[in-house]
Amino acid sequence: MKDKFDRQIDYLRLSVTDRCNLRCFYCSPSRNFVFLPPQEILTYEEFLRLARVALEIGITRFRITGGEPLVRKGLAGFIRSLVELKGTEDIALTTNGILLRDNLDSLWEAGLRRINISLDSLDPRVYGEITGGGSLQNVLDAIESALEKGFSPVKINAVLLKGKNDDLSPFVALATGRPVHVRFIELMDFSPAQEYFVSGREAMARLARFGKPEEATGPEGSGPARYFAFPGMKGSLGFISPYSDHFCATCNRLRISADGRLLPCLFSRWAVDLKKMLRSGIDDGSLKAALREALSAKPRQREEAAAGERRNGLRTIGG
Ligand code: SAM
Repeated sequence: MKDKFDRQIDYLRLSVTDRCNLRCFYCSPSRNFVFLPPQEILTYEEFLRLARVALEIGITRFRITGGEPLVRKGLAGFIRSLVELKGTEDIALTTNGILLRDNLDSLWEAGLRRINISLDSLDPRVYGEITGGGSLQNVLDAIESALEKGFSPVKINAVLLKGKNDDLSPFVALATGRPVHVRFIELMDFSPAQEYFVSGREAMARLARFGKPEEATGPEGSGPARYFAFPGMKGSLGFISPYSDHFCATCNRLRISADGRLLPCLFSRWAVDLKKMLRSGIDDGSLKAALREALSAKPRQREEAAAGERRNGLRTIGG
């Protein structure tokens, strides 16, 4: 499926819940935030129907995200059903890793092989501070177990936060000793905590402290990241920099939020209300037309998507 700027769109991200078991200060800053009422969240059957229709018009790859997908019951069964849909070529999961270790066997059996783990610090105290009390050890254990089990690639996502994790050395050490791909992400304006912003370009320049980084291809399905590695490194280091490095020209994705809104761009204020359509008895043909409508509204660049009021945070849209 091509959009009007000739980009191949074959990737759909599904945010299966807005619930999360962490309270990262830049993502869920308030302890009193309101979750969506359960009936506002799409059922797995609704997600599967959308996925099937999306496959029929050219989507081939899915990512499951949230909120924290592993807090939703039955996730492995849902992933198995997605894997079994005709045309699914690839599925990946984005998780904070807290509940991952205990779910690795069932996820593997369901057919999942690719995992992204959000991990903003390798210092237990700082990790606890950023996440509102999360246990770093849980995440480290999950990474080890995922590698042992054969999940590949295992990617680590770290949002760059000034004064918290912008000394990159622990992450460089992690990617040196293990086949993990650490990606540094610029803090996006979904967060009010913009005083913590560090540009990806600036962080990339800091790699020079550790030697001469070589541009690397990165793992399969690397999306918008630019990758580097040092000689002898088992993994790699990537940068996802929506602000300091334009990547919209290679965008290949659409998103469905937990409440069933189809967003043509992460930064979109406008969305197609698929939940309303699904629950009003729409036929598959009209659903396909709705997906195509979102595709045709995909902006060339994120700035063009940014007008108007933002309705959802990343917990609902899917980080
Ligand atoms: N719970 C899953 C996880 O932790 O990977 C799914 C995504 S959840 C919304 C949290 C992730 O979204 C963060 O770890 C980060 O990668 C991303 N995120 C949230 N707010 C962000 C922001 N303002 N800028 C950049 N990334 C953000």
